[in-house]
Amino acid sequence: MQQLPFSAQLNRDPAHRGDKLKFSFEFFPPKTAVMEGRFWGALHRLARLEPEFASVTYGAGGSTRERTMRIASRITEETNIPTAAHITCVGATRDEVNKVIEGFAEAGIKRVVALRGDPQGGIGTKYEPHPDGYANAAELVAGIRKIGDFDISVAAYPEKHPESPDWDADIDNLKRKIDAGANRAITQMFFDNDDYWRFMERVEKAGITAPVIPGVQPIHNYKQISSFAGSCGARVPDWLAKCFDDLDEEPEIHSLVASALAVEQVIGLINGGVRAFHFYTLNRADLVVALSRVLGQVRV
Ligand SMILES: Cc1cc2nc3c(=O)[nH]c(=O)nc-3n(C[C@H](O)[C@H](O)[C@H](O)COP(=O)(O)OP(=O)(O)OC[C@H]3O[C@@H](n4cnc5c(N)ncnc54)[C@H](O)[C@@H]3O)c2cc1C
Repeated sequence: MQQLPFSAQLNRDPAHRGDKLKFSFEFFPPKTAVMEGRFWGALHRLARLEPEFASVTYGAGGSTRERTMRIASRITEETNIPTAAHITCVGATRDEVNKVIEGFAEAGIKRVVALRGDPQGGIGTKYEPHPDGYANAAELVAGIRKIGDFDISVAAYPEKHPESPDWDADIDNLKRKIDAGANRAITQMFFDNDDYWRFMERVEKAGITAPVIPGVQPIHNYKQISSFAGSCGARVPDWLAKCFDDLDEEPEIHSLVASALAVEQVIGLINGGVRAFHFYTLNRADLVVALSRVLGQVRV
């Protein structure tokens, strides 16, 4: 018998019929007019997948505060996509952070991704909370809950946050964030689904019942993404590195490989029961569009 491709097996399996996958998309606030044009192009294409929400990151040390606010407000005003604005505690007093959150509410932004942020000296240096600031994400979540009725997402780490001394400390921290009022966690990128499954076992064992949405990073540019992954503690397996060996000058093959790997990762997660995904888009739509077609979702 002819072997069906993965997607066909998935779509024809009655167990999966009618299961609409849920997507959320993460963007960063564009720096220049040209980048902004590309950003809106990507957002409008991905909007046709009817995402649960689009999130807009907050630059290191609050460096994009105004841009995050402007872009998130415009998405809220001009599209019907629910918008989530990221916020961090870095280098700011509680009052300053609270004012930004109140600004989100005034702009009609009802969702927040609440983060501590990375140390101001860069990843790998010691994190020093502002003396009058929120010390960590759990405190920030509790603070946001006092301000208004936001939908709050927090970060989770299938390979453990680099600063957590051990797994117990890491999972305890996730539990504190959920107990403080977060609605869900979104994971850091990971490339080996087994890391996610092992993490989910720990999450369940700790009695955490909030959804932990896998954060999927399509590999638009292997060099850039592997370097960023390394800096935030996400392991790039050898087999994955080998897939992109010598492809710097072969953009078409690079893109085909990236697309095949994204499909493989997402199908693996779907087959394990996952129905909601958060994509780190880097303001690009193509790989997610290709993936959604293979999965038999809306044509975009
Ligand atoms: C989905 C997602 C989105 C992100 N978006 C952004 C963004 O927009 N802008 C940005 O700058 N960064 C962003 N980041 C990166 C994030 O800011 C960093 O990973 C940061 O180092 C940790 O943030 P956190 O919210 O997980 O921190 P926390 O949950 O506060 O944890 C940080 C570390 O401190 C430890 N810790 C926390 N509380 C305590 C305590 N009471 N006692 C002892 N140890 C404790 C934890 O175990 C952990 O090791 C994002 C990450 C993810 C996964």
